[in-house]
Amino acid sequence: NADIPQPVLDVIARLRELGHAVYLVGGCVRDMVRKVHPKDFDVATSALPEEVQRAFRKVIPTGIQHGTVTVLQGTTHVEVTTFRSEGDYLDGRRPSSVAFERDIVKDLSRRDFTINAMAYNPLDRDLVDPFGGQSDLQAHLIRCVGSAFERFSEDGLRPMRAVRFSAVLGFSLDPDTHAAIPATLGVFRKVALERVREELVKLLLSSRAEGGLLLLADTGLLDVFLPEVAGASADEARLARAAVQAAPQDIEIRMAALLADLVDRARARDIGLRLKFPNKSADLIALLVENAKLETRLWDTDPALRRLLARVSLANLPALLSLARARVQARAPDQLSALEQLCTRLEALAAAKPPLVPKELALTGGDIMATLGVGPSPIVGEATRFLMESVLDDPSLNTTEALKRQLQTWHSARSTS
Ligand code: ATP
Ligand code: MG
Repeated sequence: NADIPQPVLDVIARLRELGHAVYLVGGCVRDMVRKVHPKDFDVATSALPEEVQRAFRKVIPTGIQHGTVTVLQGTTHVEVTTFRSEGDYLDGRRPSSVAFERDIVKDLSRRDFTINAMAYNPLDRDLVDPFGGQSDLQAHLIRCVGSAFERFSEDGLRPMRAVRFSAVLGFSLDPDTHAAIPATLGVFRKVALERVREELVKLLLSSRAEGGLLLLADTGLLDVFLPEVAGASADEARLARAAVQAAPQDIEIRMAALLADLVDRARARDIGLRLKFPNKSADLIALLVENAKLETRLWDTDPALRRLLARVSLANLPALLSLARARVQARAPDQLSALEQLCTRLEALAAAKPPLVPKELALTGGDIMATLGVGPSPIVGEATRFLMESVLDDPSLNTTEALKRQLQTWHSARSTS
């Protein structure tokens, strides 16, 4: 019980004092049984949502129609959900109805996997484990509560969650659970890609992403939401998985590691948007994919490398370097030391803080107009681009005097030609 925050214990004690059944449920019980510190603590109770609201001074009706109330204990938010069972799933996406229940076992039996279907009352030290969650935890098994085929037919996201938990925990799929995945892909196809992406992100950020990706491919799930990866040759797919595993646990870098050798920039962005990543993430994934192959630039000149820095921006350089290292480690580890020399050169060029964008030029748009004796016109843009290119070639030109001279030479050459 040492793990359980006092505000959570207080909520449990209060509900029990009022005569309600009350338990911790789901992921936190699984984690406590595994002796891992839980991320968050979910409370389930026989009290109806209105009774929960009346029992505490400060509450937010977070998901009141599903029975969830957030209790504010000081600065801690405790989610309290009334025991529930679910009606039929009509479309494989959401239950047609929910019913509140008095009995914890009813609530546990709607949950996805045996290891997620345990409840614990810390006051009585009472563990409720009707489906063998403890023994599956010990055996490192992901197993559906009840018939895997039925449970996957009810909610098409569950197969994806099974593979995600397998990657995160390093567990195997129970054979029946495994076999039910290809058999229910039709239901998985209907799941909103946003929900799929949330599970994919957790899988990719896990320390066993490589194995998780292999299982996604073997079960047929990957083909549904990432056909670009599922359709790659066995060798390319293996190298992509190895690059993901070698990359730091950052979602944009790992997505780029997965895609960099399989698709181009535009396709990478489409994939990001299709999977409902935020625009900023999709853009960054695309930018990283576009510039990932640093091993092809070992002989680039400083001006060429400064243009690369301008394209990716200094802020994204560390991400690009770790992506490049991960890919080379997976694909050509003998080139790692050559790549490292390039990384050092790029870091040194970046450390010199060269001007990379027009607003860092020593001449403003106004200065350019004054020097050329013109008002706002397209020539100002052209001149700015010319000066930017000159400064990328030679950053020491970025002074007012030098740029004015550059500009005058450019202008007279331009008017005579
Ligand atoms: P994590 O540590 O990743 O948050 P978790 O077990 O808490 O893992 P959540 O997605 O937060 O996972 O869900 C909380 C609990 O709700 C699960 O442990 C499980 O009991 C139940 N649950 C969540 N999603 C489903 C689902 N699609 N079908 C059935 N039960 C589910
Ligand atoms: Mg959770």
